[in-house]
Amino acid sequence: MARIVLKPGRTAPSVYHHPWVFSGSVARIDGPCASGDVVDVVGPRNDFIARGLFSAQSQIAVRLVTWRASEAVDDDFFQRKVADAVRLRERFVPLSAGQTARRAVFSEADGLPGLIADQYGDWLVVQFLSFGLDSRRDIILDALARELHTTGIYERSDVDVRGKEGLTRRVGVAHGEEPPEKLVIRDGVLAYEIDVRTGQKTGHYLDQRENRSAAAALARGRRVLDAFSYSGGFGLAASLKGADEVVCADSSPAALDLARRNAELNGCTNVKFVRGDAGSFLREQSGEHFGLIVLDPPGFAKSSHNVEAALGNYTDLYAAAMRRLDRPGVLAACCCSQHIQPSQIVRALNAAAVAADRQVRIVESRGQPPDHPVAANCPETAYLKCLLCEVN
Ligand code: SAH
Repeated sequence: MARIVLKPGRTAPSVYHHPWVFSGSVARIDGPCASGDVVDVVGPRNDFIARGLFSAQSQIAVRLVTWRASEAVDDDFFQRKVADAVRLRERFVPLSAGQTARRAVFSEADGLPGLIADQYGDWLVVQFLSFGLDSRRDIILDALARELHTTGIYERSDVDVRGKEGLTRRVGVAHGEEPPEKLVIRDGVLAYEIDVRTGQKTGHYLDQRENRSAAAALARGRRVLDAFSYSGGFGLAASLKGADEVVCADSSPAALDLARRNAELNGCTNVKFVRGDAGSFLREQSGEHFGLIVLDPPGFAKSSHNVEAALGNYTDLYAAAMRRLDRPGVLAACCCSQHIQPSQIVRALNAAAVAADRQVRIVESRGQPPDHPVAANCPETAYLKCLLCEVN
């Protein structure tokens, strides 16, 4: 097995179980190795630190998976990791007639760096995002099918980050049967029709389940704007919980088609659909006021390098929303970028409050549901923020 020797002064993250070894921390590689190989990571004096999967092209040269020198990283290892991920979900998000979907594997959070597996009833949708797991695809698919008793697994490895690993896109049936065109799930308070082939990500945003319920609990008697609605999750939950009227806005026609079908599926009759840029909608429809506005935009900060610019965009969006809110009104400010910390969202909210001449009190700071756990050794697995604010 090849040895990846770290530079002096660059061992601390690995010693403290952070799973990423950046190529800039590597002093040299002893022995031949290719992408996907199991390698040992050692300190400058050759002392064992951890074992992981090598990726020659990526900035993340090794994804560490064990810190025990005696533990083999073989097929059995990955089968145990998959079983462990499923066991956590069985405890915290058990499936039932009222909850038929959940994230079964969440990458680094489950010690399987680069693997996403979302369960939709009898079907599973997977993404392989790292070379190491992509090259163990068959073992992992078998383990997932066995642990989750799936009828079929569909692959949506169509994300840009695969390029950084030297991987091309792969989409299609990966295991078992082909999923139906139209798949209906129950997640939280709603039923959803999802499209695993062309829907965003794996077809549905499972991570907002509990935040939708929490925001909807504040919707009674209010006009609600769900400004980045995708398939309608926040807006339709608000409608079910007694909102006067709901507007779902999204720039994607396909998303709004899904939202419309989901409104029908859930018997929501007081929902309007608006296609377009949410920022322009907020700035231009000056006559429209709402009692609750949900902002759940796509991540503005794609890397740590554009956090400042992203915070400016969040601030502008929040200010535009505050100008449309009743006094008092509720703003649900969501942010799914791992590069932005909760405290930075608070700062952006305050900057927006100053600009819009409003008072903001955060009444609830929310994050991820239990099927998107946060690994203590990998803070990057904490990415979702949802701040419920009373705006006066
Ligand atoms: N709130 C949704 C998830 C939103 S994902 C849920 O609970 O499921 C972000 C959404 O924002 C996507 O549907 C995307 O199509 C939409 N979007 C991206 N840019 C936008 C813009 N400028 N204006 C409005 N919608 C936008």
